[in-house]
Amino acid sequence: MGNKIIIAIDGHSSTGKSTVARRLAKELGYVYVDTGAMYRSVTLYAMQKDLIDKEHFDSHTLIQVLSEIQIRFEINKDSGRNEVVLNGKNVEREIRSLEVSSFVSQVAAISEVRTKLVEQQQEMGEEKGIVMDGRDIGTVVFPKAELKLFMTATAKDRAERRYKELVDRGDKVTYEEVLKNVVDRDHIDSTRKDSPLKKAEDAIVIDNSNLTLEGQFEKIFEIVNNAVK
Ligand code: C5P
Repeated sequence: MGNKIIIAIDGHSSTGKSTVARRLAKELGYVYVDTGAMYRSVTLYAMQKDLIDKEHFDSHTLIQVLSEIQIRFEINKDSGRNEVVLNGKNVEREIRSLEVSSFVSQVAAISEVRTKLVEQQQEMGEEKGIVMDGRDIGTVVFPKAELKLFMTATAKDRAERRYKELVDRGDKVTYEEVLKNVVDRDHIDSTRKDSPLKKAEDAIVIDNSNLTLEGQFEKIFEIVNNAVK
């Protein structure tokens, strides 16, 4: 189907970007890259080295040890999903905790962290045929991407979605904590100096507050089919 393109999906936290990106990649036979998983992995590393907790963040040392951090993706043979591997260990489950979510935006605001990950992301897209989701994909990583989507929804809808995901996997969290995290992350992500979250001028906005998953897909698929033609 047509030429291979780059599809950049950005947007607010917990808007279902990864669900959309994963499904698009599957239908098109493209590679899916979850860049949030990369920032979450660096955050997990910082937590393991006691560089970040509720009281402090030693960003200086994190910058010094960045070269020790190796991140790659591997396919889970059972689910067929791309999962993130940090220094040889699959951390796909660990990085989804609310604790990692509560520190990740501080880590992602560090320019040295972004430079390292953006370079790796750009290499992954060299061959095109990629769907990448994150916060700065259409603005910084692939400003020339052939198709850019910007996903949003009300904070309440997004927090409900994320709360359900966490409870379903057995995490003990409250709805209020999750809502606070979603709102706090959006604030830090949109106001940071380096590569703040914002809609690329040529991105198409998808507000899925009142859309079912299927309704959303119909809409997005029409847009994508036009773009790959
Ligand atoms: O996509 P996800 O919610 O897993 O991303 C976690 C965090 O990683 C975001 O809240 C943001 O701070 C950071 N991030 C980023 N740039 C990206 C992807 C994620 O700053 N491209």
